Amino acid sequence: MAGARTSGAVRPDEIRQHNLSLVLSHVHRDGALTRAELTQRLHLSRSTVGALVGDLAQLGLVEEVVPSGGERVGRPSHVVAPHAHGPYAVGVDVDIAHVTVAAIGLGGSISTRAVIPTVPEMRPEQLVDLVADALPRLRTTIGSVGRVCGVGVSLPGTVDLVTGRVGVAPNLGWEGVPLGDMLRDVVPADVPVVVGNDADLAVLAEHQRGNARDCDDVVFLIGRIGVGAGIISNGVPVHGRDGHAGEIGHNVLDPSGPLCHCGKRGCIETFLGESALLALAGRALPRTDAKVAELFKDARAGEPGAVRAIALVAEPLGRAIANLMNTLNPERVVLGGSMGEVFDLARADVEAAVARYAFVSDAGVDLVLPAFGTDSALLGAGEVAFTALLADPH
Ligand SMILES: [Zn+2]
Repeated sequence: MAGARTSGAVRPDEIRQHNLSLVLSHVHRDGALTRAELTQRLHLSRSTVGALVGDLAQLGLVEEVVPSGGERVGRPSHVVAPHAHGPYAVGVDVDIAHVTVAAIGLGGSISTRAVIPTVPEMRPEQLVDLVADALPRLRTTIGSVGRVCGVGVSLPGTVDLVTGRVGVAPNLGWEGVPLGDMLRDVVPADVPVVVGNDADLAVLAEHQRGNARDCDDVVFLIGRIGVGAGIISNGVPVHGRDGHAGEIGHNVLDPSGPLCHCGKRGCIETFLGESALLALAGRALPRTDAKVAELFKDARAGEPGAVRAIALVAEPLGRAIANLMNTLNPERVVLGGSMGEVFDLARADVEAAVARYAFVSDAGVDLVLPAFGTDSALLGAGEVAFTALLADPH
């Protein structure tokens, strides 16, 4: 976040907007803060902070409340918190067999969600219909309070961040889909729509409030039917020229390996993807959510086939992490989805492979699970949906 503005050759209304944006962004990221904390953080006068908080309260974005719980001596001090009935972002997380749609409030809290199973080979038009259908349902569920301030969509594919055009989403079978424009046709004109890659959005959420907070060099390795990486380097998200950065699922680990749907052999996805896991455990394909969940449940219960499959995947997972370390030198790697499950079940094997294959074997990278479980990409979608409101509170 940039610093507070008090002077310079900018118009007073620009200074006010900038400072409103700062106060709201701090409360959004960090939760309830006292006026004194805001004054200290923003290097503004108490009266200026008071006026800004008053304006944001007037807009229905924050409210001043007495924090509940905890014994305090003397007069309770009010805190500035996200308004309980303030605007909400709609986060949409597109996975291969289901779509999750959620209302996410300022501060990143999910107030309601719906998980909608999808048909195999869902077309982009079907996703757009699903989102258009979900918006009024969300409103009914959370009541008439609040308003939608943005729609954010996470999906497993490459995305042009400016237009929301999907370049290629192999596991959805999509190529060159103007998804951003299609969605803008079905949401109110004043509601911004942002589309992003699932791993990119997952790393954003974990960096903002989760297990990569205050960590400026982090990779989120997400495992679903495919495998991808979301990267923040020196505090800046890395997308590459066309949004392909982090598409490591099709890096070749072994050219004599299994045939990948992309036409090459031995891609990371053919070793670490969920279909590969099921095949290694001797389970029938095609992959379904239920089969994947059952595999991990069985592995936890010690079923030999499932345990063996996890052990076989631990080594290439460690190798993939080592490759990321050699390329990006992250401080932390967050392992999400099925990669997190494998890591949790075979931590020592994964760490041993990392140590074996990393250029600097004691590089000291932290391997962690996501703070938000399977919700990181969904929350990241909500996060980007708030961008316009945070930049210009209204
Ligand atoms: Zn491939």
